[in-house]
Amino acid sequence: MFMGVGVSRLSMWRKALAGGLCSVLLLSAGCAVNPATGQRQFTLMTEAQEIQMGRDADPDIVAAMGLYPDESLQAYVQGLGEQLAAVAERPNLPWTFRVLDDPLINAFALPGGFIYMTRGIMAYLDSEAELVGVLGHEIGHVTARHSVSRISKAQLAQLGLGVGMILAPELQPFEGLASASLGLLFLRFSRDDERQSDALGVRYMSRLGYDPAELSGVMAMLGSVTSEEAGPRGPEWLSTHPNPENREQLILDLAARTEVARDPALVNREPYLRRLDGLIFGENPREGFFRGRVFHHPDMAFSMDFPQGWRTANSKQAVQGLSPEEDALLVLTLGEGGTPSAGLRTFLAQEGMQGGAVSQAAVNGLPAAAADFRFTSQQGTLEGRVVFVQHRGTLFRFLGYAQPAAWSARRSAVRASLESFRPLTDQRYLAVQPARLRVVTLSRSAALSWVLDQEGASHRIDEVRRLNRLEGNPPLPAGYMLKIPVGGVLPDEL
Ligand SMILES: [Zn+2]
Repeated sequence: MFMGVGVSRLSMWRKALAGGLCSVLLLSAGCAVNPATGQRQFTLMTEAQEIQMGRDADPDIVAAMGLYPDESLQAYVQGLGEQLAAVAERPNLPWTFRVLDDPLINAFALPGGFIYMTRGIMAYLDSEAELVGVLGHEIGHVTARHSVSRISKAQLAQLGLGVGMILAPELQPFEGLASASLGLLFLRFSRDDERQSDALGVRYMSRLGYDPAELSGVMAMLGSVTSEEAGPRGPEWLSTHPNPENREQLILDLAARTEVARDPALVNREPYLRRLDGLIFGENPREGFFRGRVFHHPDMAFSMDFPQGWRTANSKQAVQGLSPEEDALLVLTLGEGGTPSAGLRTFLAQEGMQGGAVSQAAVNGLPAAAADFRFTSQQGTLEGRVVFVQHRGTLFRFLGYAQPAAWSARRSAVRASLESFRPLTDQRYLAVQPARLRVVTLSRSAALSWVLDQEGASHRIDEVRRLNRLEGNPPLPAGYMLKIPVGGVLPDEL
């Protein structure tokens, strides 16, 4: 969990998008020649509207997922992206390339030229040519206007109806849950769209002098990663069939027929790997981690308990728990208002809100203000309890609620959880660090298992194989560079 900046903006964007559709329909429906494919395409959106959509959504993406805090890596990806965009069909879009602080393997594009790579996919890519290929593929979605044409195909009406949502809509009236609607931005492209973007990626990377066959290696990698590494949604790249093997072969065939602007073609494995040295790998426990039903947040120095058997999730914007019956929810976010009483007053002043008696009792020694509430909106009525707690200068809002019929059964478990918020003082937990990639250059030839023994990473051999596209226990030549995750081990249960 991290900062609740602009949490509600995603839903605002969604509303703006939905509200804007009518005027869009009236003003600009028509056919245009697609710049990348040369085919005529029915579209409802002007380029200016497309750019505006990307500009509006970009801050939401950044707030929800976070930028990876490494300016030189950001500048590197932006620089490569700009070079590629300059040889693509729509060079004058406000091309923006970002590395997001997200461990899952993903890359995606928003309309208007906004392209995102996760630090997860950066770790698994194995050369600059592969990175350029992925960027080219995403640029292809934009130049071929795939999302725009998807939206044109009346998907707008359906946006928000369950795509990527984990909760029944009646359980998400409070803004802290907008992160669930992030799924909206991962528009599903068709197989044809994906193949077309692969082909455009090959086109752009070869124009810059990179070996287009390298893009096929990305498909091989995607076929080998586990669902845990790829995340529950799966990378955009896997969101639709053609399966990776199939795409791998198609890319190789296409690459063999494509002229490359440079001889020999660029691969740049070593310079790319050098940039990955020190990259945070996997979940970052400093932003919070679960040990059973207990949540610990080292950066913000607090712990709290969730009820037994509840499903839990930690994101940049909230820590959430969902009852097994899916009829009650706990949500911890940052609070607004400065002090617990001011935060509570503002919360209870919301339209449709009816507050009960206010308690100012401290929670585990921390200044707090709490109240039961009943909230009525168009979706129905909810009952719950909210606690605002101040800890080390930060105000937290901890909210538990349920449908009225379920509230009495959940109330005591929710209250126990709300009142479990406490300072984290165990030094071992406060000091945890994420795993990072170490990039090792072999001084002499050696077997993979021998190298991992030396690095104390034998237990990570499967991960290292996937990260480096190796199989079995191959002999590695002197000078070979190997990505090895190190550290990130959590202390034992307290
Ligand atoms: Zn794609």
